[in-house]
Amino acid sequence: MPAIGIDLGGTDIKGAVISDEGRILHQDLVSTQPESGADGVADRIVGLVGSLCDTHGVTLDSTSGVGVGVPGVTRKDGTVVIAPNLDWHHVPFRQMLQDRLTGSAVELDNDANVAALAEAKAGVGAGCDSLAFLTLGTGIGGGIVVDGRVHHGASYSAGEIGHMVVIPDGPLCGCGKSGCLEAISATKGMISHAEKLIDDGFVTSLKKEDLTPKSICDAAAEGDEIGEATVDHVARHIGIAVANLINILSPEVIAIGGGISAAGSLMLDPIAASAETNTLEGMFEHTRIELARLGNDAGSIGAAYLVMS
Ligand SMILES: [Zn+2]
Repeated sequence: MPAIGIDLGGTDIKGAVISDEGRILHQDLVSTQPESGADGVADRIVGLVGSLCDTHGVTLDSTSGVGVGVPGVTRKDGTVVIAPNLDWHHVPFRQMLQDRLTGSAVELDNDANVAALAEAKAGVGAGCDSLAFLTLGTGIGGGIVVDGRVHHGASYSAGEIGHMVVIPDGPLCGCGKSGCLEAISATKGMISHAEKLIDDGFVTSLKKEDLTPKSICDAAAEGDEIGEATVDHVARHIGIAVANLINILSPEVIAIGGGISAAGSLMLDPIAASAETNTLEGMFEHTRIELARLGNDAGSIGAAYLVMS
């Protein structure tokens, strides 16, 4: 039985009819218009669900229901505690959708958790029981799947891999703490590291005003000293986080996605090397460290799995 997966973002709402093997059967998108408030966004999701069902020639009753990935902190009862891009605080969003989609199963979860679920079910970890997922971009999102389900922990917020401390008293993170992986290996940390090396006078083709993760990775691929040193710095600390994940969880798969991961093996190989160095003997070889496969489709695919049994 197919399910509807909704990927709610700050700009667009992407929706898809997903087969029970995790394939996209039909997809569409509408603008989010967060200024219309949570009620407006709920109405737009319901409209999108209706048009997806119509176009695909199914009724909502003949699907497993509607799953939603939300860019924020969620709770078990479906409350969105905070979603900065939507300016939401304590919105009972699952219930708001349920009131509009009577008789249908409705579930929601954090977007990185949902992407982890997608990679575990239908992506690089298809068929595995346990997977940890990191998405590298302006921040570092994370999600953990154990026994085929998202692991939420006692706080319901487990899986914040980006806020694993990898340098005690290190750079300040957006969360207010110091030395989190996100402060070192996401876009801002990567650029500041390259800037510092430029200030220190290393020879480079990179210019401060043009620094992006892509320009740094491109320079590294051409053997630029600062490019290589920056990729090494970023990857080494991701590798420490990966080693900690392996030591604690020993997942079958660690999937790495997001913009910075577009550098492919240039980033993945030093991450794996650092992880191997920092993992307890006898554990590293039991985990596959691979690039995520589903890209931007992970949001809607994983959301659909929230309502598939
Ligand atoms: Zn942090």
